[in-house]
Amino acid sequence: MSVSSLIGLTLQQLRDEVVALGHKPFVAKQLAQWLYQRRETDPARMTNLPRELRKKLAEQPLLTSTVITTEDSGEGTTKLAVRLHDGTIIECVLMEEDGEDGSPRLTACISTQAGCAMGCRFCASGVLGLKRHLSPGEILEQFYHIDQVLKRKGLPWLTNVVVMGMGEPLHNFDNLMQALTVLNADWGFGVGARRITVSTVGLPDKIRELASQGFQFNLAISLHATSDEQRTRLIPTNVATGLKNIIDAAADYFRQTRREVTFEYTLVGGENDSAADAGRLAALLRDFPRANVNLIPMNPVEGSGLKAPGTESVEEFSRALRAAGVNVHVRRKRGRSVQAACGQLRLRLEQSS
Ligand code: SF4
Repeated sequence: MSVSSLIGLTLQQLRDEVVALGHKPFVAKQLAQWLYQRRETDPARMTNLPRELRKKLAEQPLLTSTVITTEDSGEGTTKLAVRLHDGTIIECVLMEEDGEDGSPRLTACISTQAGCAMGCRFCASGVLGLKRHLSPGEILEQFYHIDQVLKRKGLPWLTNVVVMGMGEPLHNFDNLMQALTVLNADWGFGVGARRITVSTVGLPDKIRELASQGFQFNLAISLHATSDEQRTRLIPTNVATGLKNIIDAAADYFRQTRREVTFEYTLVGGENDSAADAGRLAALLRDFPRANVNLIPMNPVEGSGLKAPGTESVEEFSRALRAAGVNVHVRRKRGRSVQAACGQLRLRLEQSS
């Protein structure tokens, strides 16, 4: 057993590992409890495991990644830069908000790739291209680092997870599914599927594949434009997919899972924030029983040539959508001081190293 690869294994895979080491199958469940439910990384504290197994586990660190910087915006956003075993840097974020009932809403935003192949012009993650996919364990290790922040702050465990950090999650489909299986399982981290949101730039075949997996994850689609011409300017992969295909796949996702789909729309000043855009967006979403749109005023990315929208255009855009019956949520600009927009912290660290 290579113990460094334990995190990310399913219960059955853990069973295979412990049996191969000469232990009873039920030991795997105890191991999963320590690893996933208690997020314990010190084998010495796993007191109900056989001594021999604890010794084996202690041969090398269970976590393969380390936190290199933690930046707290002071406005409820903590961003972590994490170094993987091969020196690659990724990011994850903890967001603290008040939920609708006043209880804390604690959301982890996690990465699935180092860099990204999609090359969206408004996003820092795509600037350096795709370095590599993350393994299921590397995806899940981000929760251990965020858990340390929660503990330091005296906060309870996460209420929500968004797969919206670096990378296009559906481009790393198999590893994503294995990580989400462990995250969701009651023998795993136990995060309810309805509290997990997968955010995609819109890969129609993969959206349908996700729908067929039997989970009730929320789906968020990064739309960001209201015509193919405009979308292709912002998101080069749109050439191959096209807006209509993405909207159709999102409708299929809704039909199959009965989960509402949220459309993410980054407002870029002078690019996609006109009244005509608002009208076209409402028309595109008219077949959804209840369309949800997250409006995200853009964080400027150096060198992208794109600018933030004016406060007035954000207000007018959201007013027009609401008037058309769309459920609109304007995302608070947060974390600019900690470079919280996707990929910006990692970009800064890689460029300065
Ligand atoms: S927005 Fe998402 S899909 Fe686009 S480059 Fe950034 S990480 Fe990749």
